[in-house]
Amino acid sequence: MANASPNRWDRYYTPATVAEAIELLQQYDGQARVVGGGTDLLVETRRGLHRPAQAMVDVTNIGGLDTITSDDGHIVMGCGVTHSQIVTNALIIERGSCLAESCSVIGGPQVRNVGTLAGNVAHALPAGDGTIGLLALGGEIEVAGEGGSHWMPLQESFKGPGKSFIDRHRQILTRLRFTPTAEREGSAHHRVMRPQGLCLPIISMGVRVKLDDDDTISAVRISMGPVGPVPYLAETAMDVLVGGPATPEQFRQAAEVALNSVSLRASKYRASHEYREQMVRTFLPMILNRAVERAQGTGL
Ligand SMILES: Cc1cc2nc3c(=O)[nH]c(=O)nc-3n(C[C@H](O)[C@H](O)[C@H](O)COP(=O)(O)OP(=O)(O)OC[C@H]3O[C@@H](n4cnc5c(N)ncnc54)[C@H](O)[C@@H]3O)c2cc1C
Repeated sequence: MANASPNRWDRYYTPATVAEAIELLQQYDGQARVVGGGTDLLVETRRGLHRPAQAMVDVTNIGGLDTITSDDGHIVMGCGVTHSQIVTNALIIERGSCLAESCSVIGGPQVRNVGTLAGNVAHALPAGDGTIGLLALGGEIEVAGEGGSHWMPLQESFKGPGKSFIDRHRQILTRLRFTPTAEREGSAHHRVMRPQGLCLPIISMGVRVKLDDDDTISAVRISMGPVGPVPYLAETAMDVLVGGPATPEQFRQAAEVALNSVSLRASKYRASHEYREQMVRTFLPMILNRAVERAQGTGL
């Protein structure tokens, strides 16, 4: 597709294999850009927020990468998998609830029907909702480039706000995966947003909890954003919870510890510092409780 505007792109490719996509990226030697659903990239490119690309390499038509599968103890999602596919997938709803919940709040139906989880992760915003959900689950991503492909922990891919260690001109995030929650495990996500908002959240949080037979917390992950330059894993709050009882008092303490470990921003249009603090105090205990109920088999 030819386009004369300097802020857009000259050619738009839809390769059918990863090898073909990598070959195109190599051919353009840093002047092409990987595109998923385009809900961020094409909108921003049209607005002139990115340098012009000679080519867009759309990876959503690559064979086999538009499905959700179970493989080797993981739930695996290809880079063409949209938020809508995740939200309606029975396995993810049951065994990765916080990911289904986090993808369900993204944009509106049109955005969810074309926007991908891979694009949400590769965009590397501090509070991408799907990213926060996958981070709580302990997600991993597969990155393919000239030298082959490798899996890496999701949290190691973030470099800064909107900056990723994935080179989006030369590499492709091909697949994402997480270990499904097992018996005595549950997860949950919650996002606070201005009622009229369709863009960035005030706070987005995800949790994954594992219980011992006596309901002691044996493992927990808590993800949050935006609370800094990259999606955040609240490790100090996680340390507080492990080995203790799954009680409201513990959850409240974890929220305080999480708040002490982050610097919440004040933003004129979205929320004051104090309001964000209050949202963490209110909703982090709530989702911990919801995840625990799911682990106990009593929650929805
Ligand atoms: C109206 C509207 C509302 C929105 N609401 C929300 C919201 O509530 N929460 C939220 O988190 N986001 C929201 N978004 C942002 C966006 O829709 C999501 O982040 C979406 O998941 C992006 O996925 P995509 O496939 O469209 O990515 P694209 O726009 O195609 O790409 C985004 C970035 O990732 C790179 N990229 C994409 N796929 C790959 C890949 N496989 N490998 C390497 N790099 C890749 C691109 O080069 C680009 O830098 C909204 C957007 C719009 C337009």
